Amino acid sequence: MSIAENIQRINAELAGTKARLCVVTKTHPVERLQEAYEAGARCFGENRPQEMAAKHPELPADVEWHLIGQLQTNKVKLLAPFVNTIQSIDSLKLLREINKHAAAHRRVINGLLQFHIAQEESKSGLTLAEAEEILDSPELPDLSHVRLTGVMGVATFTSDRDQLRREFQRLHGYFDHLKAKYFAESPAFQDISMGMSGDYQLAVAEGSTLVRVGSAIFGSRG
Ligand SMILES: *Cc1c(COP(=O)(O)O)cnc(C)c1O
Repeated sequence: MSIAENIQRINAELAGTKARLCVVTKTHPVERLQEAYEAGARCFGENRPQEMAAKHPELPADVEWHLIGQLQTNKVKLLAPFVNTIQSIDSLKLLREINKHAAAHRRVINGLLQFHIAQEESKSGLTLAEAEEILDSPELPDLSHVRLTGVMGVATFTSDRDQLRREFQRLHGYFDHLKAKYFAESPAFQDISMGMSGDYQLAVAEGSTLVRVGSAIFGSRG
């Protein structure tokens, strides 16, 4: 199936759910991103700041660029002029840096708190206690150029559906907890980014609002 057909099929599956599609475009050349754009995709996820910064000028201005990979503080300035959402916030230091560069461009950048929900230790993300430590920081209200819009998680690489379901439920639980404790008056805090090519239907059933899908659209990255 073509890129356009895959996007249409996934959008049809998501219709009537709370979830929208973020097309993961990492490693793919801009021609394929343009094809996805023409098929209606507007949210593009990349995991490397340099790659995203290089592709950004080649695509129309209404693309929502989401960073979905680990971000070093010294790379924030590459993204600050245009990135819509940084899905991989895992420290107060990173929030501070995003705020500083967003302020310099008179922008507000959206951020998701990334949680560690997988069994693999190699996968990054916060524990609930670490996230609360960030949210309890007296500095946080001053970081007005970052808008926290929800949570993100990468599940274990497994075909065990029960395991995946538990991990998605855990992330949903973290979201509910933080929403009630810190964001009850903040409608912008609304996203649960979970689900990839192999498990997005399950993630949507568990309340995902943003699925990050690459290979089910473009084929394998080889
Ligand atoms: C690559 C990647 C995806 C997409 O993976 P697919 O299996 O190709 O859909 C989603 N989320 C993150 C964080 C990724 O790095």
